Amino acid sequence: MSEVTIRIERPANRVARIVLARADKRNAQNPRMLYELDRALSDAAADPDIHVIILAADGPDFSSGHDLSEPFKLPCAPVATMEGAFDGPGIEGHFAFECEAFLGLCRRWRELPKPTIAQVQGRVIAGGLMLMWPMDLIVASDDAVFSDPVIAFGANGIEWFAHAFELGTRRAKELLFTGSSITAGEAHRAGMVNRVVAPGRLEQETLELAERIALRPSLALKLAKMSVNRSQDAQGFQLAIDNAFALHSLAHAANLSEHGGIIDPAGIDIVRKDARNGKEVSTSPEP
Ligand code: ZN
Repeated sequence: MSEVTIRIERPANRVARIVLARADKRNAQNPRMLYELDRALSDAAADPDIHVIILAADGPDFSSGHDLSEPFKLPCAPVATMEGAFDGPGIEGHFAFECEAFLGLCRRWRELPKPTIAQVQGRVIAGGLMLMWPMDLIVASDDAVFSDPVIAFGANGIEWFAHAFELGTRRAKELLFTGSSITAGEAHRAGMVNRVVAPGRLEQETLELAERIALRPSLALKLAKMSVNRSQDAQGFQLAIDNAFALHSLAHAANLSEHGGIIDPAGIDIVRKDARNGKEVSTSPEP
């Protein structure tokens, strides 16, 4: 029997809720989940009865990132890019895969023609940010923590390199350099999340926000979204994303040459040690 990775709900009039449903894997993303999510988002975008889309997650954690236990292979025909050479040897094939399944899908999700809201709890690690940042709004429960520890694995950060835009340059560098997490409160002060709520209120408050937005005219919502996205693009967002992705691909090539795989395997021990010592969560004092 095939694994269920995504669940689709209609919790209110004009609102779709797409739920990451790999709670037993802390919603680690395998390629199949990414493409089932893309299908669900595309279907909701095409449905005239849906005005707002919520992206939620089962279990205690929103997403633990890429599922490194599964091969990085496309589960279906590509939809996002024209890169090709997916079966190319070494870095060529891997570069094509990441262009399509990571960078390409994130770009598509950011440009969905309807407001999207991420409903986030628990840990959001590395590739987990890739699911959350392309959404328009983020509502976090106060137990949420966010991290991108992939420098330990020999890369600059995740493929969707929006860190500096999401957090500001100082916080982005500290997050990346140390591998530590930031709390929901810190993320709120940095402007990365819209609202922080009690865990027991997360679903209800996100739904109320979606319902309020869903009453407004869809065309104007779409135009407002495009206007804000283009404002961010005018600040260099797309160029920065593409440049960092090229450097990310350079890092994978260097790791392939040095370690025979796309990541430095020493990272696993570094991240586990930090987790044991409680260093994965920021100790910066709350003001
Ligand atoms: Zn990568």
